[in-house]
Amino acid sequence: MICENITIGANGHLHFAGQDTVALAKQYGTPLYLLDEDYIRHQCRVYQNAFKKHFGPTSRPLYASKANSFKRIYEIMKEEGMGIDVVSSGEIYTALQAGYDLSHAYFHSNNKTDRDIVYGMDNHIGYFVADNVEEIKAIEAEAGRRGIKQKVLLRLTPGIDPHTYEAIATGKVDSKFGSAIETGQAEEITVFTLAQPHVELMGFHCHVGSQVFGEDIFERAAVIMLEFIAAMKEKHGYMARQLDLGGGYGVRYVESDPFLDVDTKVSQVAAAIQAACKRLNIEMPEIHMEPGRSIVGAAGMTLYTCGTVKKIPGYKNYVSIDGGMPDNPRYALYKANYTCLLANKMNEKCDFEASVVGRCCESGDIIQEHVMLPASVGRGDTVAVCTTGAYNYSMASNYNRLPRPATVMLSGGKSYVAIRRETFEDLCACDL
Ligand SMILES: *Cc1c(COP(=O)(O)O)cnc(C)c1O
Repeated sequence: MICENITIGANGHLHFAGQDTVALAKQYGTPLYLLDEDYIRHQCRVYQNAFKKHFGPTSRPLYASKANSFKRIYEIMKEEGMGIDVVSSGEIYTALQAGYDLSHAYFHSNNKTDRDIVYGMDNHIGYFVADNVEEIKAIEAEAGRRGIKQKVLLRLTPGIDPHTYEAIATGKVDSKFGSAIETGQAEEITVFTLAQPHVELMGFHCHVGSQVFGEDIFERAAVIMLEFIAAMKEKHGYMARQLDLGGGYGVRYVESDPFLDVDTKVSQVAAAIQAACKRLNIEMPEIHMEPGRSIVGAAGMTLYTCGTVKKIPGYKNYVSIDGGMPDNPRYALYKANYTCLLANKMNEKCDFEASVVGRCCESGDIIQEHVMLPASVGRGDTVAVCTTGAYNYSMASNYNRLPRPATVMLSGGKSYVAIRRETFEDLCACDL
């Protein structure tokens, strides 16, 4: 199986985090998001241990909360001692509802509104990661009004193509994110920021992309960033205290995806950083990274109930489910890969090829094409889609007025609702 928390029970049912998914579908209804809490905590610890071991005691993994943002996840991050990154006032609000201490929060986004900046400062957010000079001006103005000194990092684009999907590649020079080193804009914003009385430049940030497996992407990004840091030290006498290398480690969606060992990856990045610092004759800054997908992705699974099975002889077959692009838009967005399983018939031979499709009025409402399922698949069966913990709930919509599914957490053989299922009343809650 693609992840160790996916197994087959003695009854031929798909088990997730040791629990019978068919029983969970019956108990909580479908569509249903499952999240393996123990796996999430395990991943947090893997990152923290690797960071302590290879980057030193001051380094910190920050959970990129856009991957899956809701109250309970911030409680878990708080309990696990994780920093967080947020990209909107809504994520800040959610973290605050969970009692999360924002001094370890980093506020990203390529366009923070004036209201975002006010909201962040009202709530004493630890750091703003400024994308461009305009943002530094806005942050300086608001910090000046308050008579405070706001800590900031600058987001730079190192000019690296991580060979992932175009839509989730973010480190190239022509990206909408950050200030490019290559064009001289990174130096300009650094000099400008250092001259502002109400911002304190803590260091630099980059994020090259997502679902990255590439051999040395993070090493190359780190070296480019360290060369920039050394150049700023030499030219402007400014030594960065923090270097944040962003998120992006990939997870296994299908058998052909590689297995990524976080400790090994982090040790390789650390070795590249140490070598570069030595060569450039600079101290090693505090290193941060921002994993999102690799913390929660494989902790997730979505359960659906099968409806219509349509066979078009000589063409193709469709297996329709009771959810679709509103709860998982990733295939529609960028043809993302997923593994689909027939949860109540795990021991049957899979020799029926079909497209697993949603129930929306949209031909692009597809979960996955070319799925192999048992030929007996039919109405009432439970379809499971694996590895849906990241960028599913957080990207979900109410398209076709479908209520968003519940999120049920699985831990130590028990289950509990962390996000209740939306009701029809919720759908009209804002309609006046
Ligand atoms: C999306 C994002 C992340 C997380 O990426 P993952 O691929 O989920 O690990 C981290 N940092 C920034 C700035 C991001 O935009």
